[in-house]
Amino acid sequence: MANMIESQEFGKGDFVLLDQLTKEAFMDNLKLRFQRGRIYTYIGEVVVSVNPYKSMNIYTPEYVKDYKGREFWERPPHIYALADAAYKTMKRYLKDTCIVISGESGAGKTEASKIIMNYIASITNVSHRSEIDRVTGILLKSNVILETFGNAKTTRNDNSSRFGKYMDMNFDFKGDPIGGHINKYLLEKSRVVHQQKGERNFHSFYQLLLGSTEQTLNALHLKRDPTAYTYTNQGETNNMKSIDDKRTFKEMSGALKSVGFSHDEQQTLFNLLAVVLHLGQLEFVEEGQKVRIQNKEVVNYIASLIDSNAASTEEALLTRVVAARGEVINKIHSKEDACFARDAFAKAIYERAFLWIVERINGIIEVKLDVHRYGKSTVIGVLDIYGFEIFDNNSFEQFCINYCNEKLQQLFIELVLKQEQEEYLREGITWQNVEYFNNCVICDLVEQSHKGIIAILDEACLNVGTVTDQMFLEAMDKKLKEHEHYTSRRLVPKDKDLQHDRDFRIIHYAGSVTYSVIGFMEKNKDQLFQDFKRLLFQSSNPVIKDMWPEGQQSVKEVTKRPLTAGTLFKNSMIQLVEKLASKAPYYVRCIKPNEIKSPIQFDDKRCLHQVEYLGLMENVRVRRAGFANRQPYQRFLQRYKMLSSYTWPNHQCRSDKEAVTALIKDIRFDHDVAYGNTKVFIRTPNTLVTLEEKRSEL
Ligand code: ATP
Ligand code: MG
Repeated sequence: MANMIESQEFGKGDFVLLDQLTKEAFMDNLKLRFQRGRIYTYIGEVVVSVNPYKSMNIYTPEYVKDYKGREFWERPPHIYALADAAYKTMKRYLKDTCIVISGESGAGKTEASKIIMNYIASITNVSHRSEIDRVTGILLKSNVILETFGNAKTTRNDNSSRFGKYMDMNFDFKGDPIGGHINKYLLEKSRVVHQQKGERNFHSFYQLLLGSTEQTLNALHLKRDPTAYTYTNQGETNNMKSIDDKRTFKEMSGALKSVGFSHDEQQTLFNLLAVVLHLGQLEFVEEGQKVRIQNKEVVNYIASLIDSNAASTEEALLTRVVAARGEVINKIHSKEDACFARDAFAKAIYERAFLWIVERINGIIEVKLDVHRYGKSTVIGVLDIYGFEIFDNNSFEQFCINYCNEKLQQLFIELVLKQEQEEYLREGITWQNVEYFNNCVICDLVEQSHKGIIAILDEACLNVGTVTDQMFLEAMDKKLKEHEHYTSRRLVPKDKDLQHDRDFRIIHYAGSVTYSVIGFMEKNKDQLFQDFKRLLFQSSNPVIKDMWPEGQQSVKEVTKRPLTAGTLFKNSMIQLVEKLASKAPYYVRCIKPNEIKSPIQFDDKRCLHQVEYLGLMENVRVRRAGFANRQPYQRFLQRYKMLSSYTWPNHQCRSDKEAVTALIKDIRFDHDVAYGNTKVFIRTPNTLVTLEEKRSEL
């Protein structure tokens, strides 16, 4: 057992082995291990990881060697053991596996995913095939690119992923990486036009401004000063010590090049970043009934950067073409409309560029080898997705993110329990049920057709112009008033924490969250005027044109309503869960020890909260309810055969199973053990502890 290899001063390496499973005992163990620099602890095969907030000397080639090909219990807990287990399952049994990494912002998910990928890269391709090296290099470098465009500084994390990522790595029959695929989920695009105090826009903007050459900046009509732009100065956070934009820009441009983005493609990406920054500088002024743009030179910059002409660009910014009763008319924007449209345009350009980057990388890493020649390609998927979020003000984005966590929790419950159940069945051992909260009811509350929140929201969004966010809230109140996980002020008038006509509350498995409905409808509709799409489609830059195929539709054609953001997200979550459920899952549960990025502080309250909502205690309970430990007969003998004369030095029985039975009877542990077909199951952790003690006494 892992904990036996480490001395007791580091606590228990597996929570299953706690003498008594209480909150206090769990937290004491977690804290002790964190303080002693042991950031990983197991719950069976689940890895609990606490962010060390300092660089750890545990990812060296020696460590890789130490964990390669080993079993969980052979070495002290490490994320390498989990990566290795996933890899072994994939290679030995040709089974697709996935690694689900969860935890709140700043808990260390993205770092964990990179550590896992690096580990896999270092244990594969021992014969140094150049094609494999190339593919592995691309898979690792794509992280640098995605972090530049998809991560930002927030108040919680200087390098916070503002999108969810699921990455498949494909392997050939030799177990070497031959390609991959990335799925991205819900980029937080509102950040492109607005940042709260203490936060920044996506790293890409600052990197471009601070890292590119004078010549490039001149060509983009930009100043080397992030404080000069509305879209990059709202958070008032510049000169961050922890972020070196200049250096990362170099690294990122290198990565773009070596991954395979052409010079023109890179240039276009930079152009689009510049376009977004310029859009933020546009000033609209009212003149009588009309609105005009004060700083026309900015329109010229934008037009030239998107390879269009100034007149069309200006027209798209100030008017929109609408089809009314068969007629096509030009409608002039009010100042407010123009500002709104401009921000929507900036967000859409950025989001589409991000999507394009992901697709471009996918095109490059797509498995091209002949599967017939190389056999079936197996997969390890790594999911690094936003954790549960509760802010002071929670909006549509938090709603989606928290729904995503409900889905993942549901999957966790199903898979962990299902796996246990299946193992017992396979081994012919009776299964005992464990009580746990099944959050299926909350998933339904959000996603059910007709009466789920997303369905009600979609219905409200169907009625153009007439329905307000408040009316959407009323509709929910009507349909969901009986639901035990939904409340609002109208339903509970004495609840002063909820604002009338604004708030609703969902009791999530991880705690209650109050959402403000303001902006829900607009964010769900996620509208961008066709005029902008057409403008970009008409660009003479082939990359930009390629990004906006729907721009070719004429006004009259654009009648079909696109799916809403909520429904698209829901569908992508359902697909993701299906994908994960078909694979053998491994879990990393990340914990953030404190709010101040300190390597020594362990904030008891915050940590307990995370342990609770990650369901870690339940996880241990499930694991212990049945049997705390199970081992193949042969392995058990190897470790404990010296405890009985029946088995030492060698047994005379017909099978290892018989030998283990004799051994256990001899040392009188029979009451605590069940004999499966291939494994011995030990009910209480104490038995294992005693076995280990007996062994070391000899
Ligand atoms: P978000 O949800 O905001 O994306 P996250 O869970 O992905 O958060 P990370 O970006 O992985 O969090 O980690 C935040 C910071 O914590 C890292 O930038 C790094 O400084 C530190 N950190 C996390 N894990 C480790 C580790 N294993 N070793 C050293 N430092 C770490
Ligand atoms: Mg992250």
